Amino acid sequence: MTQDTQPVASHYVDGAYLEDTDGTPIPVIYAATGVRIATVHAATPAVIDKALAAAARAQSDWARLPGRERGRVLIRAAQILRERNREMSVLETFDTGKPLQETLVADAASAADALEYFGGLAGSLTGEHIPLGGDWAYTMREPLGVCVGIGAWNYPTQIAAWKAAPALACGNAMVFKPSEVTPLCALKLAEILTEAGAPAGLFNVVQGAGEAGQALISDPRVAKVSLTGSVPTGRKVYAAAAADMKHVTMELGGKSPLLIFEDADLDNAVSGAILANFYSSGQICSNGTRVFIQKSVKQAFLARLTDRLKGVVMGDPLDEATNFGPMVSARQIEIVEGYIAKGVEEGARLVTGGRRADREGFFLEPTVFADVTDDMTIAREEIFGPVMAVFDFEDEDEAVARANATEFGLSAGVFTRDISRAHRVIGALKAGTCFINSYNDAPVEMPFGGVRMSGVGRENAKAAIEHYSQLKSVYVRMGDVEAPY
Ligand code: NDP
Repeated sequence: MTQDTQPVASHYVDGAYLEDTDGTPIPVIYAATGVRIATVHAATPAVIDKALAAAARAQSDWARLPGRERGRVLIRAAQILRERNREMSVLETFDTGKPLQETLVADAASAADALEYFGGLAGSLTGEHIPLGGDWAYTMREPLGVCVGIGAWNYPTQIAAWKAAPALACGNAMVFKPSEVTPLCALKLAEILTEAGAPAGLFNVVQGAGEAGQALISDPRVAKVSLTGSVPTGRKVYAAAAADMKHVTMELGGKSPLLIFEDADLDNAVSGAILANFYSSGQICSNGTRVFIQKSVKQAFLARLTDRLKGVVMGDPLDEATNFGPMVSARQIEIVEGYIAKGVEEGARLVTGGRRADREGFFLEPTVFADVTDDMTIAREEIFGPVMAVFDFEDEDEAVARANATEFGLSAGVFTRDISRAHRVIGALKAGTCFINSYNDAPVEMPFGGVRMSGVGRENAKAAIEHYSQLKSVYVRMGDVEAPY
């Protein structure tokens, strides 16, 4: 196990692995056992400097290539990722603790989709021609330069690829800092990009905690920062980027609502609520953790939900029969246990779960609270664990108003058979990524991101191109220039 998970070196810079043991050691803990499986070292200022210098050097040549040639590298990387899906998925499982049943379909596969999609778009990133009578103007879509990506720990391969793919397609280079909790997968992505033909320095990975992130953001060579993380971190990163007017994409936290009306197909609604709360042991930013259920179907919903949760198979994440893994870290399980205790203390009804599983590692039972009121802590704060809060409501207006009573706005979902209501409710919900009779789908073709405190900008789809490029406008006069004197 140790042999497979210990990377060649801590960082990947200028097309090769790079070690600098002067950096603070970062233990990599396998969440299913609590055992250290690798050690990496935080980037020293010398490593960060080397990564940024390499990225700046690589970027100017890369930007000069025809988009189609850039795209070819990304598409080749997507192919390699797919060929090595199992190997990458096992590594993702070691990095995060998520069950292999999930990582085989949701992580490297999603990263490959992003590389393939943006690889395909790279040849058609054009400006426009603007006729102005005799004169005319045109626009050129230009890269930003060196972009910094900073990742959270829940989807280390996917997050790195969702940032790298559009960035590189547009002609930028990237320095990526994974979460210190999950440092392994991004290194493999860097290795694969090199193998696919990416020039040295185009995609670099440096390890470290918040200080490494801050050092990257504040460097004048950096043109853009894309963060996936919590709102408090988002505030700091946004503020640091503002000092030099750097571009930002902020994919932050949420406390998203899922509204289930009495006319909904209840089995589908229960499936949606499960996907919205327990996939990846609840460690998903877009989760619909506030489940609003119309009063008349509340009992039926809770009965079916509890019954379905008997299908949870908690166990060795490498066993493909396991469908529920541990929390990512000792710290995260403690945070979530704290919220569960608060829920009980503030009077919510614990329907099921709420305890640590009696086994090694950071396993927490899927937990459902009912009779939750809007003022409770578990109704207001992002928990980032397998904890569903169920609220009941009388009518649509009330449900929408309460759903919107949050500072967040990442996602929202509605289950109903009434087509007009579905669109009316989605229209009224303040969220960036919404679902009708479904939850948590994230195809690369669909823009993903939040409003309000949940973020700025969009990942995926053509929308991401706007966030990794800028327009140059050129006015072309065809006749003489008339000046007043
Ligand atoms: P954090 O905000 O704690 O960390 C995110 C990343 O930012 C990490 O790499 C972290 O480094 C780094 N970081 C921390 N402080 C700074 C700083 N001052 N300057 C620069 N970088 C810094 O989030 P978590 O990793 O705990 O992830 C969970 C959060 O991420 C949740 O709120 C969740 O909702 C959100 N998230 C959002 C998603 C979205 O797309 N909207 C998707 C997934 C998660 P380190 O941790 O190594 O110290």
